[in-house]
Amino acid sequence: MPDSRINTFLTLQGQTNESPYLIDVAKAEGIYIWDKSGKKYMDMIAGVAVNNIGHRHPEVIKAIQTQLDKHLHVMVYGEYIQDAQLSIAENLASILPETLSCSYIVNSGTEANEAAIKLAKRYMGRQEIISCKNSYHGSTHGSLSVTGNDEKQSSFKPLLPNVQFIEFNNIESLNVITEKSACVIIETIQGDAGLIKPTQEFITALREKCTETGALLIFDEVQVGMGRTGRLFAFEHYNVVPDILTLGKALGGGMPIGAFISSEDIMHSLTHKPMLGHITTFGGHPINCAAANACINVLKEENWVAEAESKGQLLASILSDSPQIKEIRRTGLFLAVEMESEEKVAQVVEKCLEKGVIGFWFLSTPTAFRLSPPLSITEDEIKKAGEIILSCLDNS
Ligand code: PLP
Repeated sequence: MPDSRINTFLTLQGQTNESPYLIDVAKAEGIYIWDKSGKKYMDMIAGVAVNNIGHRHPEVIKAIQTQLDKHLHVMVYGEYIQDAQLSIAENLASILPETLSCSYIVNSGTEANEAAIKLAKRYMGRQEIISCKNSYHGSTHGSLSVTGNDEKQSSFKPLLPNVQFIEFNNIESLNVITEKSACVIIETIQGDAGLIKPTQEFITALREKCTETGALLIFDEVQVGMGRTGRLFAFEHYNVVPDILTLGKALGGGMPIGAFISSEDIMHSLTHKPMLGHITTFGGHPINCAAANACINVLKEENWVAEAESKGQLLASILSDSPQIKEIRRTGLFLAVEMESEEKVAQVVEKCLEKGVIGFWFLSTPTAFRLSPPLSITEDEIKKAGEIILSCLDNS
């Protein structure tokens, strides 16, 4: 890559980290990304749990092209009736429990969480918010306020007041939830914490405590939703339904989108006191809704969600041969490979990149190597990627 291109990237583009990957992207298709030199990479992170149906799925491209020929933005969210918005609302209602029938489409995962918290405060007329230690809910002020990570929060204080943190999987800490609590926001399976699953006892007790106190239960499935865990939604593993669900990332089939979803009764409290309780100019953009709609249809038609468990098992079993690995935590086709140190993870990531396999770490858990490939990956591709990763693990 010419130095001037790297220099432009590093100086004219806002940076988020001191050592970015610097893959100079030419194109992407299925599970592959090609750089400008023609090097082909297996994308084993799916743009961080976004491209669950692979890059540029033909149905997504077709839906975008069809919508392009009809209209782009015509009006702020919620005023005009638009085919693409109606279809996504119907489609989401068709795959979710009856109490999650009403969806509001926004621009990102963090906006979905911001809006879900506002909705809970408005509906309940309460101010306190409960969240979990070691959680991640997004980077804007409201979502950061409920992100249980001191390091991420400290430079941006003051944040929202009245936020209390409980411990994930600690039933006793649920006593913090009271009649004063508007809501509990929690990742159904903690992602950024390095993939921590809830115990059935914890999640059942959490649902019961919320019902008992009236606090609304918000499941943040921005990262684990849309089939990643082997079910369309992670909460389906636990037989517990939230009052509000938030989605993002994989929902758009590669286009930017978020959603917060509840019953009609809860949602429509945003229409008064004040009117326009949450507004967004571009939320529900027709192109993004058309893409999301196509993405849901693909997930319904293909068997990829059902296959996520066996594919995840296959990948884990290949890697488990390495003595470098301390532990593999996994749900469906989402793996956290715990290593001895942050440095080891950085070495493996680098070696894998050299050999054309893209892996990543976890924001708050740099000692774990992240694998979340497209669900469309084949068994042969898993074997190939697994063997390459294994060789990098054992040579780092
Ligand atoms: N919630 C969870 C659980 C996430 O993992 C993320 C992003 O990684 C977000 C919210 C924020 O989503 P976005 O980056 O689209 O704002």
